[in-house]
Amino acid sequence: MTTFLEEHGRTHVCGELRAEHIGETVTLMGWVGKHRDLGRLTFVDLRDRSGITQLRFDPHYAEDIHDVADSLRSEWCIAVVGEVVSRGANKNPDMPTGDVEVLPQKLEVFSEADVPPFVIRDETEAHEDLRLKHRYLDLRRKPLQEALLTRSKVNALTRNFLIDNGFAEFETPVLNRSTPEGARDYLVPSRIHPGQFYALPQSPQIFKQLLMISGFDRYFQIVKCFRDEDLRADRQPEFTQIDIEMSFVTPEDVIETCEGLIAAIFEGVHDLDVEAPFERLSYDQAMLRFGVDNPDMRFGLEITDISDAVADSEFRVFSGTVARGDVVRGIRVAGEADGFSRNDLDKLEESVKVYGAKGLAWVKVGDDDWKGPIANFLGDAEREAIEAKMGIEPGDLLLFVAASEEVACASLGNLRKDLAAKLDLIDESEFRFCWITDFPMFEEIDGDIHPMHHPFTSPHAEDMDLLGTDPLAVRAQAYDLVLNGHEIGGGSIRIHRQDVQAKIFEMLGMSDEEANDKFGFLLDALQYGTPPHGGIAFGMDRLVMILTGADSIRQVIAFPKTTQASDLMASAPSDVDADQLEELHLRLALKDDEDGE
Ligand code: ASP
Repeated sequence: MTTFLEEHGRTHVCGELRAEHIGETVTLMGWVGKHRDLGRLTFVDLRDRSGITQLRFDPHYAEDIHDVADSLRSEWCIAVVGEVVSRGANKNPDMPTGDVEVLPQKLEVFSEADVPPFVIRDETEAHEDLRLKHRYLDLRRKPLQEALLTRSKVNALTRNFLIDNGFAEFETPVLNRSTPEGARDYLVPSRIHPGQFYALPQSPQIFKQLLMISGFDRYFQIVKCFRDEDLRADRQPEFTQIDIEMSFVTPEDVIETCEGLIAAIFEGVHDLDVEAPFERLSYDQAMLRFGVDNPDMRFGLEITDISDAVADSEFRVFSGTVARGDVVRGIRVAGEADGFSRNDLDKLEESVKVYGAKGLAWVKVGDDDWKGPIANFLGDAEREAIEAKMGIEPGDLLLFVAASEEVACASLGNLRKDLAAKLDLIDESEFRFCWITDFPMFEEIDGDIHPMHHPFTSPHAEDMDLLGTDPLAVRAQAYDLVLNGHEIGGGSIRIHRQDVQAKIFEMLGMSDEEANDKFGFLLDALQYGTPPHGGIAFGMDRLVMILTGADSIRQVIAFPKTTQASDLMASAPSDVDADQLEELHLRLALKDDEDGE
């Protein structure tokens, strides 16, 4: 006996049929969506990833399949063979296939479906955990299908652009040794080497540099990376990078290539002409004007430093702060003097306190006077100086924080975002790019210096001398690409001299022995004619999230983990057999404790 599939191939997909197909006999396959019984007629929406076609089961037309048609239920997987007919007066202009319907003559049920744990439709109220547990069903919903298909398109656009521009794609090891990107490694115990572990790559950083030393010149890879961090909404333990490395380049060359790639992706996905070159800000400017190194440039509300203007203020909170070497900074909220009640301002003050600010000083600028608790303390000269810096108009609301530079940045940077949301200043359809350059090479954490990016980042040539004298003043040749307030990529020019790399390891407190143990292979390789090189990595998940307007990266990953790093569908992580542990030469301390050993 021949099967249905041996007899009938699929002729069209469910989103394809139009008026021009009327009169054709077609074979469609897919899932039962909505179904409606109207007396003798049964209407079924047949769905696949391309869209929906309405089926009309009419007993006058095919009596023998009518009982089966009546029994169809949501999410059954079926096929029909039938004629495409006009919907006549019942056209549905909201559906791409709405001019037509199919009158099935044959119906094949491939498989029935249990009642799904949630209804498969575009908008859902179902709890995310339930949807993650049945991810294969959640993935039948149109928004997720569209997001994943966009992701596939971004993969293809990336590959095409980079290959066209002379890049070659290479894979790098997944079973690796631990290399520092600043996060905790996922470790894999070795069976063959008792007591030893591989680490899953946090990024292919060293390998891509080694490929440059080998002479491959232009490398890329769309690659999974793993970081064992406490997760936030837009983090996953495994995530995908578009990883790029180039030889004989300056930051300009890398930036130009990336702008081309981004333009190709946005054109391919949204048919959008992205204007390059993108705006650029040094790290210092970004922190000063926006309080963060990933500024959302879709709205203004810039931060202004008024420390000079209030250094001698009668308002002791301001002058005292400046005298301590700290800063007074503010945001001008144009035309909003009447828009914020006392209660609103108290709430804003609470919001900056979260970031360590002691308070939020405010002034409402009237036609002839300034109002607010601190207004009387601010003399004419001060007001003029503040006005000159902030460009004030009557009707403005001014908000100030007096604090350490770090606290002022964090509190005003976040206040700026809160205000934009409250005042509805963000155009969600806009894509605003911005490069942040000249990051500090190091940051100080608990008295120790740490690389701000990673230890292979090259200092600025003109700051080399500062390495020995004032490391925190050294700027790195590092750059981040920011889109709508999200860092979507980051990279740097690398150190290509062995002596400089060894010096950086030493500055980071690594003994020669430790540096050799961890990075001996890189230090060795650097001795064999290393080209100057640099690169970047883009966070694919975040990029696709922004491209698709999704509000979490889980929506753009086929099988994501929860914020507890669990796969609710496959139940990972899970216990393993005692035999498996034995083979790996492992004994669980946890189990020992439980057993009271
Ligand atoms: N490996 C770096 C990262 O994952 C990116 C780079 O420097 O190219 O952040």
